[in-house]
Amino acid sequence: MPRRSRPDPLPGAAIVRQVRARGIHDPRVLSALGRLSRAYFVPPEMRREAHADKALHIGLQQTISQPFMVAVMTLELALTGTERVLEIGTGSGYQTAVLSDLAAEVFTIERLETLSLRARGLLDGLGRTNIHFRVGDGSLGWPEEMPFDRILVTAGAPQFPTTLFGQLAEGGLLVAPLGPEESQELTVIRKQQGEPSLRAVTPCRFVKLIGAEGWSADQGG
Ligand code: SAM
Repeated sequence: MPRRSRPDPLPGAAIVRQVRARGIHDPRVLSALGRLSRAYFVPPEMRREAHADKALHIGLQQTISQPFMVAVMTLELALTGTERVLEIGTGSGYQTAVLSDLAAEVFTIERLETLSLRARGLLDGLGRTNIHFRVGDGSLGWPEEMPFDRILVTAGAPQFPTTLFGQLAEGGLLVAPLGPEESQELTVIRKQQGEPSLRAVTPCRFVKLIGAEGWSADQGG
């Protein structure tokens, strides 16, 4: 009799295998990825590719980030479960879901209302109650809710994010892709005694951060 292969025990098991093979071993990050099905966050025509380690189109010229990059960014945020996190670029809501699993509260801003509403519907459907959504220019942050222990920018910023750094708590971490349109450097910015210290993690390529402290909309997007 042919042996039936056992189903993966977790919805995100394939992604966990891929990111582990690429050197991510943090148990909290891996278990958050493992609990989540990426297929839930991609358009129906993309579902077959949902567990591939690559960015995928989600409409409106935007993408759901590559799982490896989600893992690296989450790892660099060093979340312990108590943090208030600001995320810029809700997109599909996949990274937001990972953050909401590992932090106390997530504040997420998306400039495109259609994406924000879609992500909100999905995350509400998953029963996530610690996420606050806003539609607008995230390059200016969420001043009413500052300071944030962590800030994650999931779109490429052309330069140092001054306003967002101002909303970061003392001792906090800001993770952002910084640099020109064609290729950025994923950068970790730590705030110590009010001053930034920068560490480059890995080259990357994200869609543009469009806004007052990003690229201008007529530069495409
Ligand atoms: N993290 C998302 C995910 O897991 O699906 C992917 C984010 S996608 C690479 C970048 C997102 O940033 C896009 O949805 C884009 O519309 C959004 N974005 C670009 N500029 C923005 C801004 N100034 N404020 C808020 N969102 C912005």
